Amino acid sequence: MSFRVVPITLVCLAALCPAVAAADEQVLNLYTARHYQTDEALYTNFTKSTGIKVNRLEGKEDELLERIRNEGANSPADVFVTVDAARLEIADSLGLFAPVKSKLLDERVPANLRTSNWIAFSTRARVIVYNKQAVQPEDVQSYMDLAAPKLRGQVCSRSGAHPYNLSLGSAIISHEGEAGAEEWARGVVANFARTPKGGDTDQIRAVAAGECGVTISNTYYLVRLMRSDKPEDKKAVQAIGIVWPNQKTWGTHINISGAGILKTAPNKDAALKFMEYLASDAAQRYFANGNNEWPVVKNVVVSNPELEALGKFKPDVLPIGQLAKNTALAQKIFDRAGFR
Ligand code: FE
Repeated sequence: MSFRVVPITLVCLAALCPAVAAADEQVLNLYTARHYQTDEALYTNFTKSTGIKVNRLEGKEDELLERIRNEGANSPADVFVTVDAARLEIADSLGLFAPVKSKLLDERVPANLRTSNWIAFSTRARVIVYNKQAVQPEDVQSYMDLAAPKLRGQVCSRSGAHPYNLSLGSAIISHEGEAGAEEWARGVVANFARTPKGGDTDQIRAVAAGECGVTISNTYYLVRLMRSDKPEDKKAVQAIGIVWPNQKTWGTHINISGAGILKTAPNKDAALKFMEYLASDAAQRYFANGNNEWPVVKNVVVSNPELEALGKFKPDVLPIGQLAKNTALAQKIFDRAGFR
């Protein structure tokens, strides 16, 4: 095994750092790719209600995964938190997760949003964003429309290799078949206004500026722009329209923030308690609001006017585990289609 030093930020909420505790002290070692201000309250509340201290290691998703792999059996990691089913699937396919056995989680988290080894705690949707001057909303009502010849030279996208697009590709495979997904990817590539570059926010800005007519973006990037006080962001929001894709067919593709308990977790009880805590009403609010996402637990009320302003939609109810499993195939199909 090769060891690689990865740049990582170590943030410790507990008095003791690194993650070594006195024998009688209960701790939870959390490896998280989330780093939102409101997440602070999330951890403090957990410690308050359980007495379990949280040692938090923050880093980029891929770096954390690499680190857990390198630490092997000696890893102090108890729980791994990240975004996107594709990334959780990578952790799971590496055999890093232990099964999550919890009646409470079974009851509170909808069945399509959990697998036997990892659980979703918030959702986000991948929507179509168009320039109001350049594109008619009727022409971009579904993901499939983005592949239509009518939109030649109009589509901007982040890389096809990014987990967000691989997960979308996976959903398309499930609903339209492998051949359908490849045809779609080829059509989208043929419609590109430019070679894929940047993140979702860069695509939204490019659409707002008229550099392209249409793109796809995760909802929280839109809400972030809607909540911004910067004049250029306000102007960008004015210039764009948002479509919930596939409302007449299989629904808008959703993805998740989620977590799993590591197989090598030294504090398995604390890990399960933390997972169950994430499904509590209060934690759901923090977890979802922190990144402008929706809670997974029914009837949890968020207080996020811009998020609520997006309105209601029909989400794709494809089981998140199935979505995750097909991301590797999506990568192959995108490669063949030249969606890189
Ligand atoms: Fe993101």
